[in-house]
Amino acid sequence: DYQLSKRVNSIQPSPTLAVTQKANELRSAGKDVIGLGVGEPDFDTPDFIKQAAIEAIQAGKTKYTAVDGITELKQAVADKFKRDNQLDYGLNEIIVSAGGKHSIFNLLSAWLNPGDEVIIPAPYWVSYPDMVKLVEAEPVIVHTELEQRFKITPDQLRNALTDKTRLMFINSPSNPSGTAYSAEELRALADVLVDFPNVLIATDDMYEHILWDRSQFANIVMVAPELRERTVILSGVSKAYAMTGWRIGYAAGPAPIIAAMKKIQSQSTSNPTSISQHAAAAALNGDQSCIDTMISAFKQRHDYLVNALNAIDGIECVEGDGTFYTFARIQGLMSKAGVTSDIELCEKLLTEANVALVPGSAFGTDGYCRLSFATSLDTLKEAVTRISAFADKLS
Ligand code: PLP
Repeated sequence: DYQLSKRVNSIQPSPTLAVTQKANELRSAGKDVIGLGVGEPDFDTPDFIKQAAIEAIQAGKTKYTAVDGITELKQAVADKFKRDNQLDYGLNEIIVSAGGKHSIFNLLSAWLNPGDEVIIPAPYWVSYPDMVKLVEAEPVIVHTELEQRFKITPDQLRNALTDKTRLMFINSPSNPSGTAYSAEELRALADVLVDFPNVLIATDDMYEHILWDRSQFANIVMVAPELRERTVILSGVSKAYAMTGWRIGYAAGPAPIIAAMKKIQSQSTSNPTSISQHAAAAALNGDQSCIDTMISAFKQRHDYLVNALNAIDGIECVEGDGTFYTFARIQGLMSKAGVTSDIELCEKLLTEANVALVPGSAFGTDGYCRLSFATSLDTLKEAVTRISAFADKLS
């Protein structure tokens, strides 16, 4: 009977990884389960990126690097911000970490004290509240629904802000909802935030490139330059370049905050993998058309899935702006099935229809589920056939 820390006992293992694991277990037991729980592109890392890693190994670039990343990669990140976002960041305002998640963790560790409040719009990426709890701060959840396309309003933000608020998350395009804030919507949130100078904004742009109309991407620094000195942009190469396993994320923000994140990284992981850093530099500097190929596949699947789900009695979803997820309301199905929680409904879908989905409550929003379309169109069609048959059986 080990007495583990209060900190570790305050958090849950990642529920999205748990669904994928359960689907894999059932599959090894011989069940024909379709997993729509995955959170990574089903494409291979582009060849020119792999090649850069092979060359790095052969050139002996296999030793410790600077804690916050090799200059070549930090420069590639700076160039990316200039090219894609018209933002200027110096190399002392950029840090490279072992994945986007690691950047977020470093930021929370560097910025928050016990009891500090952190605003998290829901549905949220599953890790935010648990990471906030790990540093003994308090998640403050702001709920949204499908009718508002899962985006918080300026009034909701104002009502959630207190004198204890130290940080706010914005994730656009969003995992799990797939919707993105427009420049105007971000400007309206910025107008509220200017009155709260103690609040740092963490904009998680991990899905920046997986947007149907990439010219529409905006983050809060782009629309409200006056917030630059209290915003940290969090991103990485995982989703845009199908590089989830390489573990490279990055952050850009005010130099003192980035320096603090570096200090934490220096006493925990040190530098991210040297080989992956060279691959990530190639990804950011190279031909970006690999992204377009993925986006057109994701868009085609999105259009199919959203229409097909809306045709099922008891399921509603809205068209997303990007990502490879849709967040469907399943309250109709829940009442037809006589269950009161989305977790129960997702369990039924798994055991009776052989389709694995992540319940909305994992993302802080009950009565929904997240479907990932990072899988082939044929697989999606089979999943819809199964869900539809399951729904028909209920009525
Ligand atoms: N932010 C969001 C919104 C994500 O969905 C993810 C991955 O699922 C991450 C950050 C972290 O990405 P990484 O795999 O680079 O740690």
